[in-house]
Amino acid sequence: MLEKINTLIEELEQLTAEKKEQVEEYRIRFLSKKGAITALFDDFKSVPNDMKKEMGQRLNELRDLAKNKINDLKEKFEEAETSGDNTLDLTTPPLPYVQVGSRHPLSIVKNEIISIFSKIGFTISEGREIEDDWHNFTALNTPENHPARDMQDTFYVSLNPEMVLRTQTSSVQVHIMEKQTPPIRTISPGRVYRNEAISARAHCQFHQVEGLYIDEKVSFADLKQTLLYFAREMFGEDTKIRLRPSYFPFTEPSAEMDISCTICKGAGCNVCKYTGWVEILGCGMVDPQVLENCKIDSTKFKGFAFGMGIERITMLKYQMKDLRLFFENDVRVLKQFTAAEK
Ligand SMILES: [Zn+2]
Repeated sequence: MLEKINTLIEELEQLTAEKKEQVEEYRIRFLSKKGAITALFDDFKSVPNDMKKEMGQRLNELRDLAKNKINDLKEKFEEAETSGDNTLDLTTPPLPYVQVGSRHPLSIVKNEIISIFSKIGFTISEGREIEDDWHNFTALNTPENHPARDMQDTFYVSLNPEMVLRTQTSSVQVHIMEKQTPPIRTISPGRVYRNEAISARAHCQFHQVEGLYIDEKVSFADLKQTLLYFAREMFGEDTKIRLRPSYFPFTEPSAEMDISCTICKGAGCNVCKYTGWVEILGCGMVDPQVLENCKIDSTKFKGFAFGMGIERITMLKYQMKDLRLFFENDVRVLKQFTAAEK
């Protein structure tokens, strides 16, 4: 009998399993009611009394060993199943390359505009994209039924007809004027929305930067000088500007600003439609009524404001012809701008 026990112990110590089913087979072979170890316990009755102690100890050792070994094997398979480790191949080579993104051209140009105006003391202010009627229109001299509202086809938030997707970042400046006392010198970059058909030259969403300067002795000459500085910083030292009279509800007088064509340098090309000039922004002296709407004393303070589309500036700077390229996020297009970033 001792011999049998020793043989089984040896066998158990070398036990391995390739499959989960094998472990169950072992359990049946050693530990079930008809298993080898159970059979030995049955034989134990016939062991002579003087050998019972030693044999009993040895038999218990065998049973414990069998239980532990089979449990260990079982756990090994269960662990592998839950962690899925058996499918992980650490020798797999890495992917050939990881695609790294690049900064969007609109962000590059926006940051450049911010940096240019920061140098002459403009702060950055941002606001909400869902705006109420007062801040987007009424405070800016565009009350209900005013014809100028037609200039900006608006998305209304359907649950509340008083709320709109802002059509201009001037709304941010209304908040600033309501909260701060002059001097105010700030630019507000951000996304704006208009209900327009999408084409190469128009989109329902685009980006603006608006500037506002309010102080006691601000003049139109200050506006012109600020914009000349901007144009030269943005498009080069030899850039010329010209101002043409225009109309905006919130400025009086109002003007549109052209810069000398960056491509043909004024000689005439298809970008400037052979005029030598391209329009880049609108501007003017803040209408006294707008100051009053925001509780700023218009007899004491004056201000100028300007606004430009970031898409327009970017298209001119990089000579892009289709506005839709900005929103398609084609990596092949966007990657070209990495090198241009300062
Ligand atoms: Zn030109």
